[in-house]
Amino acid sequence: MHIENRKLFKQHAFINGQWVDSTDHQRLAVYNPANNELIGHVPLLTAKQTQDAILCAQSAWEKWQKRPAKDRSSILRKWFELIIDNQEDLATIMTTEQGKPINEARGEILYGASFVEWFAEEAKRVYGDTIPAPSNDKRIIVIKQAIGVVAAITPWNFPNAMITRKCAPALAAGCPVIIKPASETPFSALALAELADQAGIPPGVFNVVTGQASTIGEELTSSPIVRKLSFTGSTEVGKTLMRQCADTIKKISLELGGNAPFIVFDDADLDAAIEGVMASKFRNTGQTCICANRIFVQDSIYDEFAEKLTATVRQLTVANGIEPTAEQGPLINTAALDKVKEHVDNAVQLGASVLTGGASHELGGLFFQPTVLSNVSPAMKITHEETFGPVAPLYRFTTDQQAIELANDTPFGLAAYFYSQNIKRVWQVAESLEVGIIGINAGIISSEVAPFGGVKESGIGREGSKYGIDEFVEIKYLCLGNM
Ligand code: ADP
Repeated sequence: MHIENRKLFKQHAFINGQWVDSTDHQRLAVYNPANNELIGHVPLLTAKQTQDAILCAQSAWEKWQKRPAKDRSSILRKWFELIIDNQEDLATIMTTEQGKPINEARGEILYGASFVEWFAEEAKRVYGDTIPAPSNDKRIIVIKQAIGVVAAITPWNFPNAMITRKCAPALAAGCPVIIKPASETPFSALALAELADQAGIPPGVFNVVTGQASTIGEELTSSPIVRKLSFTGSTEVGKTLMRQCADTIKKISLELGGNAPFIVFDDADLDAAIEGVMASKFRNTGQTCICANRIFVQDSIYDEFAEKLTATVRQLTVANGIEPTAEQGPLINTAALDKVKEHVDNAVQLGASVLTGGASHELGGLFFQPTVLSNVSPAMKITHEETFGPVAPLYRFTTDQQAIELANDTPFGLAAYFYSQNIKRVWQVAESLEVGIIGINAGIISSEVAPFGGVKESGIGREGSKYGIDEFVEIKYLCLGNM
């Protein structure tokens, strides 16, 4: 891995402004998914070290929340600038541990940084309220205060942006954070910690703990000091964490799995729909929670759409993400590869046909061929589970009502996409889909200015936008009497 700023590649956890090892000297190895080479190690912290990190964050809380919002804002702004200055090194670290094409990694660094910039600005705008009182001798005021110590547990698919999307609003609101990054991608998190330190974020305010997820997760969720958990990851782990948070009634934000429908109506601009589905389905090699997972195409345009999509997918360049031409990288690990294979095999057994791809890629290892499946039906596994890989399953539908029913027939409700040029249809469909985010004639929907989050089993809460900071404050009502 060639990075100019070697200070960014850290193999220690970061607690209270110090780079630390595990007190019992245990370490966790991290491998490059493109070639299985060892990248380095991070400490397997003990439960006691996690408890210490929580105490340090608590001690740092008061001073941090009492700093003028303008100060917190300038420190976040400095962090943003450092992230931008180090974009290339951060992207290289990310591609090495996560596998995504280097161009996508560069894009993620900008996307991740955009949350820091946005919440540096929002830090100054945590406004309260005055409310007309029910009697003349009273005055009613509402203030917003930092909730306290925040735990952020983040996934491997966006090793930078999932951290900034949680931490920037928390820090802006005046909360200290403890981040538990995914074990597959700790180095992106630790590089962010180095830059946070350089930006002047005080000791104890930004901490990164590495190690066994369940051990650290138990400490973070059971501690009464931790007042907020923000988690992005699988629905299964999200449910476990929600249960664990019940005993201390923590405020929680969960951004969990999706099963995004992508509907192409007969009046769609087909080329735009192909472009949209490529962006939505194949970004990050199909490993995003808002990736199109089921592509519904109206009868009369189905064959033409399938043909065009297949031709476009065949042109994708699959390679080690560090190569500048790569458009599709490896999957993250063997379990991910096995799931993709299982979904494809099950679909084929139950009658789907493979229009392109359908098997492991000739590069071997964790590479899978970009795939298009036709004649997919609700009986298949791929319909009900998130595939999280480069597989586009096509379903045929006839009426709008049928498309809406198929789209909503899932416990998940994160993102949906649809293509139509008819304004009446656009409104009707947009209002009927049970999701938190909809791309209408758009395949790329994520932005720091817009609220990201799901309904049903896809989660609780919103990240980014003017709403994002609400997750990290408590509302306090002050009643002034005897006026
Ligand atoms: P994915 O399927 O994307 O790997 P996971 O939900 O398994 O999603 O992982 C998301 C994050 O949750 C990672 O940081 C992972 O280490 C962490 N995690 C997994 N299991 C637990 C657990 N029992 N307690 C706390 N964190 C966990």
